[in-house]
Amino acid sequence: MSQEHGSLSINSENIFPIIKKWLYSDHDIFFRELVSNGCDAITKLKKLELIGEAVIPADNEYRITVRVNPEEKTITFIDNGIGMTSDEVKEYINQIAFSGAQDFMNKYKDKASEDQIIGHFGLGFYSAFMVAHKVTIDTLSYKDGAAAVHWESEEGTEFTMEESDRTERGTEITLYLNEDSYEFANEYRAKEVLDKYCSFMPVPIYFINENAPEEEEAEEAAEEAAEEKAEDVVDAEVDEEGKAVPAEKEKKGPKPLNETMPLWLKHPNECTEEEYKDFYRKVFHDYKEPLFWIHLNMDYPFNLKGILYFPKLNTEYDSIEGTIKLYSNQVFIADNIKEVIPEFLLLLKGVIDCPDLPLNVSRSALQNDGFVKKISDYITKKVADKLSGMYKVDRENYEKYWDDISPFIKFGCLKDEKFRDKMKDFIIFKNLEGKYVTLPEYIKAAKPEETKEEEAKTEESADAAEEEKKDDKKEEKPDIVYYVTDEQQQSQYINLFKSEGIDALILTHNIDQPFITQLEQNNQKVRFQRIDADITDTFKEEVKEDEAEALKQETEELTELFRKVLNKDKLEVKVEKLKNEKVSAMMTLSEESRRMQDMMRMYNMYGMDPGMFGTNETLVLNANNNLVQYIRANKDSDQVGLFCEQLYDLALISHKPLDPEAMTRFVERSNEILTMLAK
Ligand code: ADP
Ligand code: MG
Repeated sequence: MSQEHGSLSINSENIFPIIKKWLYSDHDIFFRELVSNGCDAITKLKKLELIGEAVIPADNEYRITVRVNPEEKTITFIDNGIGMTSDEVKEYINQIAFSGAQDFMNKYKDKASEDQIIGHFGLGFYSAFMVAHKVTIDTLSYKDGAAAVHWESEEGTEFTMEESDRTERGTEITLYLNEDSYEFANEYRAKEVLDKYCSFMPVPIYFINENAPEEEEAEEAAEEAAEEKAEDVVDAEVDEEGKAVPAEKEKKGPKPLNETMPLWLKHPNECTEEEYKDFYRKVFHDYKEPLFWIHLNMDYPFNLKGILYFPKLNTEYDSIEGTIKLYSNQVFIADNIKEVIPEFLLLLKGVIDCPDLPLNVSRSALQNDGFVKKISDYITKKVADKLSGMYKVDRENYEKYWDDISPFIKFGCLKDEKFRDKMKDFIIFKNLEGKYVTLPEYIKAAKPEETKEEEAKTEESADAAEEEKKDDKKEEKPDIVYYVTDEQQQSQYINLFKSEGIDALILTHNIDQPFITQLEQNNQKVRFQRIDADITDTFKEEVKEDEAEALKQETEELTELFRKVLNKDKLEVKVEKLKNEKVSAMMTLSEESRRMQDMMRMYNMYGMDPGMFGTNETLVLNANNNLVQYIRANKDSDQVGLFCEQLYDLALISHKPLDPEAMTRFVERSNEILTMLAK
């Protein structure tokens, strides 16, 4: 074959700056493209072999080799796949690969940078020029009598083709790296990128560092590295066919970097618990065991396989951040693609392999794609089915996992209506006794016996009029659900509730506030009220008519006193006769005001003052308490100020944290009081 020259119909001045800017953050993607081209070439040949179109020697071992030369700054990708004839190079490389790149640019060069193309698929072979100034191909087709071809191109605009001295079937592609991409010829960097993109590709990938120490040493080093690696990469032993995957320690020679038969491809019935846990550990580097998992396995109407793990939360930091790795035919695409995977599922950890996804389109196109929506609905449904199934048949474990999985479930309910509909009857709450109850269970238990009987009667009755009456009654009296957001802070109230046999739900997570707001919106009859929002009648003694007037007067007197002493002229004070006479004072803040304040606090960063609508807190003084009575009887004593202030802080402290200044004064005052006692 004589030498051929040609010009690739690409305007490099236009295309390179765009490609470089475009793919700036993932310059490493060429590894994926070139290795997956090698996989494709092998898959094609396997198919031809299968249908008898190609005859392959019995000792053939399909493989891909990635070879780096850190000194010469080259990377070589070698496969023993189908290879290319000279005509095929002309067609597939000179025309298709390059026109593919051009198409790609034409389609996307005007898009905003957020609108990135999911996998950058379509750039393929051309991505080599993102990091290399010169690329060579040596290839020999599987076809009888084919001549080997050498192709090379500088800068991806001009090429030369001539005969190659390659004698083995397959393709070898060498990249001569640009100065700013030298890092990729470094063994560790190259392995890191291969690990990211190629961990589960279907053909064994071997790695060679040409500048590594002498043969024997190199082999040892490789083995050591492989052993270390074995902790990172999924155990190779799972390959049933046992071909080309030397997993046993005794077997000499280098090991492939990847796992060609990832667990998600196996049938769920064939996977053991240990395998699931192993896979989780190795892929997500999480030393904590997952709680449980869902193996997705679907062939029709679309092909989707994967494993979703429910991680154990790090309660210490209270933050949940998962990773869902998306693959297409075992080729890694990206982490956490929210266009495909429902947002709330991103709190989980898992892998999803979906070859049917249109990954060569932009993110926004993906978002509006009906097919993608179906996929994401399917995943959501599977997750909801798993959880509701567990509630129904294994409530014990469901409760055991609840604290870990509830933020996820609640987030899912907030974000996804379909998920909420499926899960709404399976939401449970921890109560003051540490037991788990559903909302209807809580409400039922909170009702006095008579009401329960009455309601049961009404329910039985088919009388429409009575039904109406029942509805009326419900409307005027919502079911109050008491809750605790901080068991320590609100312990005084908790004790009070417990002593009166009133239950409350523990809702301590950040997600709980929006979640209960949503519950209220979807259930007009239910009102959530934090345990310190008000002092219910249950805690008060019944006040006879003749006492009421006296109490009112006490309230007036003490209001005046406390306002003056504390220098808070808007302070609300209320005197109540609490059953528990040990309680001197408590602070209440109505549910509405507190929620408003919380919201203000959230907006505080935009310059709003949470106190701008006043604090609305009410200081409740217990008329049955000795100290309160003492203050009232000694309004003019020197120490009354000290008493009032201390009482006020004590009430405040069991309601919310004191600000630093108040805390300092509180400590000083406490010392002062003790000193007085010691005299
Ligand atoms: P795609 O893989 O999407 O077809 P690429 O730009 O990656 O696009 O590759 C273009 C074409 O070049 C491939 O379709 C294939 O025919 C040919 N090709 C690329 N790499 C190889 C290889 N290693 N062995 C055989 N053919 C290859
Ligand atoms: Mg390709």
